[in-house]
Amino acid sequence: MSQDQDIIMKSQENQKKYKYMAAALIEAKKAESMNEVPVGAVVVYQDKIISRAYNIRESKQLIHGHAEFLAMIKAAKKLGTWRLEDCEIYVTMEPCPMCAGAMIQSRIKKVYYGVEDPKSGVATSLCSLFDLPFNHKVESEGLLMDLESEKLLKEFFKKLRKK
Ligand SMILES: [Zn+2]
Repeated sequence: MSQDQDIIMKSQENQKKYKYMAAALIEAKKAESMNEVPVGAVVVYQDKIISRAYNIRESKQLIHGHAEFLAMIKAAKKLGTWRLEDCEIYVTMEPCPMCAGAMIQSRIKKVYYGVEDPKSGVATSLCSLFDLPFNHKVESEGLLMDLESEKLLKEFFKKLRKK
């Protein structure tokens, strides 16, 4: 492949990544409007978004009410299988152990996440769960549009403190 083609392909890949993360950010905003911690996620299959979800832990009092967990459940329903090996997931914040575990269990191909979570993130913050030798290896790439998701979270917690 020539260098020019390589550059063009990389830029097209990046455009896609930003497009999908932007869709996840729109989900995060929906959570915010319901006074939920603003985190959103989308699952992508064959270059199409097949499921979207946002954090609903408080409003539904759901243990597994995290955006990425719900997006995976919806994707599995849509595809009629729990095996999400041809899917990629975009989530605006680094996944927690529960969600990272579900990604490994559902054999998700790759996770893209936004801002790191020093309190419960396990992609890189507290540990690197995806680097452990499980039977399925989830690829991960962080800090995609992290400033945007960080801004949403910061504004949310600022408002919460004022209440
Ligand atoms: Zn989680």
